[in-house]
Amino acid sequence: MGRKSMDARDDGGGSPYPRRATRSIAVGNVRIGGGAPVVVQSMTKTDTRDLKATVAQIRRLERAGCEIVRLAIPDGQAAEAFRDIKRRVRAPLIADIHFDHRLALAAVEAGADGLRINPGNIGSKKKVMEVVRAAGERSVPIRIGVNSGSLEKDILRKYGRVTPEAMVESALGHVRILEDLGFRLIKISLKASDVRRTVEAYRLLARKVDYPFHAGITEAGSLFAGSVKSAAGLSLLLSEGLADTVRVSLTAPPEKEVAVAYRILQSLGIRTGGVEVISCPTCGRCETDLMNIARSVEREISGLGEDMTVAIMGCAVNGPGEAREADIGLACARDAGIIFKKGKIL
Ligand code: SF4
Repeated sequence: MGRKSMDARDDGGGSPYPRRATRSIAVGNVRIGGGAPVVVQSMTKTDTRDLKATVAQIRRLERAGCEIVRLAIPDGQAAEAFRDIKRRVRAPLIADIHFDHRLALAAVEAGADGLRINPGNIGSKKKVMEVVRAAGERSVPIRIGVNSGSLEKDILRKYGRVTPEAMVESALGHVRILEDLGFRLIKISLKASDVRRTVEAYRLLARKVDYPFHAGITEAGSLFAGSVKSAAGLSLLLSEGLADTVRVSLTAPPEKEVAVAYRILQSLGIRTGGVEVISCPTCGRCETDLMNIARSVEREISGLGEDMTVAIMGCAVNGPGEAREADIGLACARDAGIIFKKGKIL
């Protein structure tokens, strides 16, 4: 899906699902929460220290319509590369940091538009204060990211296992640290690799805070399995208005994550725009190679900016009826086909 096709499409007012009321934060020039459209983000999979590969991947993400890009900053060299990367790309960049407050400081100084770091994992209060001061001075928001795989030991002991309540308690602990320092440019994610726990955790947290939510199902899986799982989880969250920015996590190139995220939003009518392809599943009546036809039509029109539906149907029984309903319809038969434009045969 090209950037052009989904760019600047929004759910502000057009969404069929009421959104939870939240504070609004800005990651670079992209607003999250407070009624802003649901934002699509992804994460680079290159070695951040590899400037050329990382910039190339971010540019591919930008072309795919990715609105915010996150990068892992595992060491000082990566933080240094971050500065050069930032100068070469347009999308707002979030620095993803674990534990080391010096990396967070370096990333903010290098121009990070957002940080992902859990304040409870930074160490001493002094270190947390340094990060919060640096982020605050530049209005850089911090995402608290609770992951079911890395809950604090005392919380795990208390709950016995990773429960939604345990995840929420962990998140609130991190929130409190930031709030005590007067920092409120916060967004929160609660990720488990199973849908039920993830959704329940967001529901619980929504009753306790008004910070925007970054939503996703973590370690969702391969392109196929992960897309299905992400669609299941995100649909529940989105339909309850609980997602302000989404990331689909796949063991696949990040551009695919962006394409899948947009498909989910488009299917729910939350972000509209671009071409929507409707194709029949085929059955014993189909006398043509519809799967190939659908694939090639999809490939051909993927970069179009037009706002339209294209139907590709496999037979003369149900095909023409459906094809007539779409902006462009193709009803196939053996060795022949009818093309409709807004219900009229072309
Ligand atoms: Fe079968 Fe025709 Fe329906 Fe396609 S449109 S599923 S070929 S009946």
